[in-house]
Amino acid sequence: MKRKIRKIIILIIIAVIFYFILNNIIPLNKGTELYDGIVKVNNSNEYTKEELEKEVNLVLVNKNYGLSKDYKPKELVIPDILFTSDISREEKHVDKRIVEDLENLINSARKEGIILLGNSGYRSYETQNKIYKKRVKSEGEEMAEAYVAKPGFSEHQTGLAIDITNEENFLTQGSREAIWLEENCHKFGFIIRYPYGKEDITGIAYEPWHIRYVGKEAAKYIYENNITLEEYLGL
Ligand SMILES: [Zn+2]
Repeated sequence: MKRKIRKIIILIIIAVIFYFILNNIIPLNKGTELYDGIVKVNNSNEYTKEELEKEVNLVLVNKNYGLSKDYKPKELVIPDILFTSDISREEKHVDKRIVEDLENLINSARKEGIILLGNSGYRSYETQNKIYKKRVKSEGEEMAEAYVAKPGFSEHQTGLAIDITNEENFLTQGSREAIWLEENCHKFGFIIRYPYGKEDITGIAYEPWHIRYVGKEAAKYIYENNITLEEYLGL
């Protein structure tokens, strides 16, 4: 009996070590499936690989357009910015293509006395699935659906979006940080993805902290015309 218990303990220790290695040592940027597997849920067509390589910045993810569980950005990188203390290693990653502009945004804000921190960047399908299931368990399906994107329908899976916060970890409407982001993020290719008063179009209530990379040209147009990504894409 004692032997059995010892065996079990050893197995648990091995499992914990493996889990640690998988989470911390093996880099995340091992994505093999690049842009295959992004699905337009509204119709049966998938985005073509060419379409996505050309315009991946404009990939639309909302309640109607989702990503398959295999979709993973080509290269995930941790940007050289400050993060809040309580986020996972996975969430510190973003798509490599947005790193430079994101770092420039954060540094530019700092020069104006605005301290911005990363709060949650890339989230895998599996992570979103866990978050969603947890919420369903604690609050029921209806509440979960209202506040948490279903797996495959979170923009965080693209690696092109990141939640930004301030030193108090409380970036709210009207705060200095929210105002700065709203007025400046387009200069770096980002948009406030869920603007105030556009819930009927985006399907998501105002989120001053969630910025999404679309490239400088699209970001400027979206900002100047006060529209959403859905409107920009004519959807
Ligand atoms: Zn977000």
